[in-house]
Amino acid sequence: MKILTNGLKSPKTDKYEIDTRKIKKIHGDFKVTSIEFEDGEVLPVDGIFVAQGVACGSDFAKKIGVITENDKIIVNESMETNLKGVFSCGDITGGLLQINKSIYEGAQAGLSAVNYIKTLNY
Ligand SMILES: Cc1cc2nc3c(=O)[nH]c(=O)nc-3n(C[C@H](O)[C@H](O)[C@H](O)COP(=O)(O)OP(=O)(O)OC[C@H]3O[C@@H](n4cnc5c(N)ncnc54)[C@H](O)[C@@H]3O)c2cc1C
Repeated sequence: MKILTNGLKSPKTDKYEIDTRKIKKIHGDFKVTSIEFEDGEVLPVDGIFVAQGVACGSDFAKKIGVITENDKIIVNESMETNLKGVFSCGDITGGLLQINKSIYEGAQAGLSAVNYIKTLNY
């Protein structure tokens, strides 16, 4: 397996071959057949797995004073952050980046939010 970073800084791994060149084009009709780099070289491939990151979701949290560590929001078992009434769940809390973990944490955060709202005297 080869990891293509599309011009981004290389992840640290001894396990796989890393290629940091920028990708110009992905070729193939019904199936991906090759990757073309900006330098013109074409790499034949059987398939690709896109794992491109997005704008960090913790940026907003940091702005409102939520404590983060390595861009991950710190929560307790109830998915509470350091700010009262602010809960977090899913990838942004770190650990296993999988849907089932996000769903569990989402359910827990929802229950915690309901319990928190019940404590408010409106
Ligand atoms: C290519 C790929 C393949 C994957 N395959 C699998 C798999 O096979 N099985 C599996 O279990 N997991 C897989 N995952 C991981 C899985 O997708 C994630 O673990 C899961 O989607 C995390 O859910 P989430 O709700 O925490 O975050 P996300 O799904 O990332 O949702 C967060 C949302 O918040 C939005 N957002 C961020 N910041 C803001 C903001 N400031 N204001 C408003 N909205 C904001 C984002 O746009 C996004 O829509 C895969 C991930 C990738 C990238």
